Amino acid sequence: MSKRKDCCSFCGRDDIQLFEGINGAYICPECIERGHQIILEENAKRDKAAGKATGNDFSLNNLPKPQQIKEFLDQYVIGQDEAKRYLSVAVYNHYKRLALAQGVDVPAEAKAYKDVEIEKSNIIMVGPTGTGKTLIARTIARMLTVPFTIVDATVITEAGYVGEDVESILTRLYQEADCDLKKTERGIVFIDEIDKIARKSDNPSITRDVSGEGVQQALLKLLEGSVVNVPPKGGRKHPEQEFVHINTQNILFICGGAFDGIEKKIAQRLNTQVVGFEASQQAKAIDKDNLLQYIAPQDLKAFGLIPEIIGRLPILTYLKPLDRASLRSILTEPKNAITRQYQKLLAMDGVQLTFEPEALDYIVDKAIEYKLGARGLRSLTETVMMDLMYEIPTRHISEFTVTRVLAEEKISRADTDRLRNAV
Ligand code: ADP
Repeated sequence: MSKRKDCCSFCGRDDIQLFEGINGAYICPECIERGHQIILEENAKRDKAAGKATGNDFSLNNLPKPQQIKEFLDQYVIGQDEAKRYLSVAVYNHYKRLALAQGVDVPAEAKAYKDVEIEKSNIIMVGPTGTGKTLIARTIARMLTVPFTIVDATVITEAGYVGEDVESILTRLYQEADCDLKKTERGIVFIDEIDKIARKSDNPSITRDVSGEGVQQALLKLLEGSVVNVPPKGGRKHPEQEFVHINTQNILFICGGAFDGIEKKIAQRLNTQVVGFEASQQAKAIDKDNLLQYIAPQDLKAFGLIPEIIGRLPILTYLKPLDRASLRSILTEPKNAITRQYQKLLAMDGVQLTFEPEALDYIVDKAIEYKLGARGLRSLTETVMMDLMYEIPTRHISEFTVTRVLAEEKISRADTDRLRNAV
């Protein structure tokens, strides 16, 4: 490698701008570009060898069917059958649409419908916090090995205001996709807390609403599918960077939100719909304890989402609050259940860890008592395990059982405020 100061140490060119590296080496932009390309290709080869789908080899043939997607979800997500089914179908259709767009493995039967355009099926999930919305979206992305990113709608503001621009969502996805544009354009974005950018009232406001309607308007262009100029390094700190042009046409957007209080809107709608004798029969059939199951797009509008956004999120589904039995299952059943994680960690010290069923019941009781939900299961289990994780590796034992007495002792000593803050 040449180390002359006036030429590229790699290709020897001297008629081009050069960047200085460490150790007195120089590189020209073309060699940087070539090097980047080589890295991308190497990564793609590695991914392919590891059985991962890469930007260029998407195929309908290796796309899992809705039932398979649901079965995969079942291994990680307890309950929430309706949401899992909806998402399995929506995701399958979404990637079918992508296969059509690329003309890959399209059966002759489908080719006959040349003029029929399949619309984008972005998804919105409504349900209390900590019931599995993010988990479902993340698990699907993992199954499909597509890039996945989570963004919080509350940090996004309209361009020009303090906060992040909507484009930053795509920057993150692009980075998740190792800067592979093709991969980025088929990724999944989970937008959390979409309810927090609801308009404060159902009436369009006259004054500007930086964090509400304005953000919804800004999001629209991503959701509906357009080419967006994205700063690859994100933020406003790198004004010199060149934009990448990301087409959001085939990016799947999954939105989630707790929509606290939306049950009232649902009840109002159901009541006004229900008039007359037939209606009173119908009213009886309504399960008042779980009104979310009747959620309809009008309710989202009443809550403050603008109709254009609702129109771009055609798949609407809900998640149920988790009952005691579900919480109990979450502790042990999912493939990477928290108790299994601890068992694996201690197995690495040669220790077989067992949880007494009563200890787990106690953890669930406390999660319910302190209203910590599923997230609390982790912090409670962590509270029980912390000292043990500290001591066990040096105790030269081969097995250990977490008893209820032990769980009670550790949790009763813990600071409940700290537990609450951990979720
Ligand atoms: P949110 O609905 O607020 O997006 P999350 O999906 O982030 O909730 O759930 C928080 C955590 O709680 C998850 O990481 C997971 O450990 C646990 N959890 C929540 N719901 C479920 C569920 N249905 N099945 C298994 N684990 C769950």
